[in-house]
Amino acid sequence: MAKTIFKRIIDREIPAAIVYEDDEVLAFNDNNPQAPVHVLVIPKKELPSVADAGDDDTLLLGKLLMAVRNIARQQGLENGYRIVINTGPDGGQTVSHLHLHLLGKRPLHWPPG
Ligand code: IMP
Repeated sequence: MAKTIFKRIIDREIPAAIVYEDDEVLAFNDNNPQAPVHVLVIPKKELPSVADAGDDDTLLLGKLLMAVRNIARQQGLENGYRIVINTGPDGGQTVSHLHLHLLGKRPLHWPPG
């Protein structure tokens, strides 16, 4: 199966503006930002979506969320932010590699479209 664009970023085959990295998590700026801060936080593990997560992914999912918290602090989002995980076709997911959107530095409307 072909690599996703995010796997290619993990493998350093295409460039990205990386804002955080550890053994299991990578975070980089979205290249079509929907807010002044728009970071994508992904597992290095090839997990297509939350719907594909297993019980053995529980710790990893927690690490992704804590990474978002830390990046939000690093990015100065004291006034709040939004975390989005689009999942599957109806969820608007376009890249089949789990990713958390971190959006901030502007007021965000609700509900989303
Ligand atoms: P989704 O719609 O939740 O799957 O979000 C995919 C996101 O990936 C979109 O916000 C895109 O702008 C972003 N994206 C796609 N390709 C790249 C890339 O090469 N670098 C950074 N962001 C990307």
